[in-house]
Amino acid sequence: MSILVYTESDNGKFKKAALEVVSYAKAIADQMGTSVTAISINADNEAELGNYGATKVLSIKNDTLSAFNAKKYAAAIENAAKNEGSKVVVLSSSADSKYLAPLLAVGLEAGYVSNVMEAPSSVSPFTVKRTAFTNKAYANTEITTEVKIVGLSNNSFGLVESGGSATVESFSPSLPESGVNVESVDKATDKVTIADAETVVSGGRGLKGPENWGMIEELAEVLGAATACSKPVSDLGWRPHSEHVGQTGKPVASNLYIAIGISGAIQHLAGINSSKVKVVINTDAEAPFFKAADYGIVGDAFEVVPTLIEKLKAFKAQNA
Ligand code: FAD
Repeated sequence: MSILVYTESDNGKFKKAALEVVSYAKAIADQMGTSVTAISINADNEAELGNYGATKVLSIKNDTLSAFNAKKYAAAIENAAKNEGSKVVVLSSSADSKYLAPLLAVGLEAGYVSNVMEAPSSVSPFTVKRTAFTNKAYANTEITTEVKIVGLSNNSFGLVESGGSATVESFSPSLPESGVNVESVDKATDKVTIADAETVVSGGRGLKGPENWGMIEELAEVLGAATACSKPVSDLGWRPHSEHVGQTGKPVASNLYIAIGISGAIQHLAGINSSKVKVVINTDAEAPFFKAADYGIVGDAFEVVPTLIEKLKAFKAQNA
């Protein structure tokens, strides 16, 4: 009757979100007086999950699962949940997990709540707090089905190291034919993605043109950050659409979001307001973004950003 948690990995390495969902599942397990079983697919170093609260890892090694396939992955998790008799299944809020959740909900006849922010306020009845209306409100939601699926918002719970250890068991679920097989995946870039980034450096129309993105990329490189942009910037073709964040773009839930030359329109804020610390650089002291910012610099990006890069490089050199 353990809590089952699906842990995502990339090239064998667990994503930060995987460690976060295990930490979160451990909090639920403590509330329910049970343990955490993790399921991993083609990941290395599965025992690492013990440090975040899993006591058992069901390890699947299967070449046919090397690329994400929603139908097969969902079948594997469903198999594990049934074998373990799990009444709670925890997923992240990644794009992959959002494909898996409805399939699992059907297979397990479970209720699914996405974008959950905190450990349940109660496990009987099972009640969780989730974001609503593009993060402008919270909804306390009760899941009434016997099996419950919880999708945790990235970066909402954090990583909690419990110092435990996990046994690793090989797991070979029976998998359905999916009708679609991904032959290979070629990544367009090796850069850190917006979804996985701790820090995001984002540029808006205030940067005047694509030729000025060198300093945004340099700042991102110094900080080990992902780059992002406002909608008009990608609409104008200055940056790829994959960098567009906001209500109609990607959501950002980083620890640090640096907005440069972005006005802070409501549709932009809707996608980034789960970020923990927001820093705004804008020439206009009346720009709406300053109201949502934790730190603001009223100044010209073309002066502030190069200075920031220089100071950060000096700081890194001193502390290397
Ligand atoms: P602008 O509004 O033009 O702002 C540029 C800012 O740069 C200004 O505040 C200016 O003071 C500042 N600036 C100028 N020069 C400098 C300088 N040298 N140094 C520093 N600062 C400078 N937008 C999104 O971003 N994401 C979305 O998902 C999204 N979805 C939308 C959905 C709908 C249905 C609609 C209607 C709109 C949506 N928008 C979205 C667009 C949104 O309303 C804004 O138009 C957009 O966010 C503005 O982009 P911006 O801040 O880059 O540009």
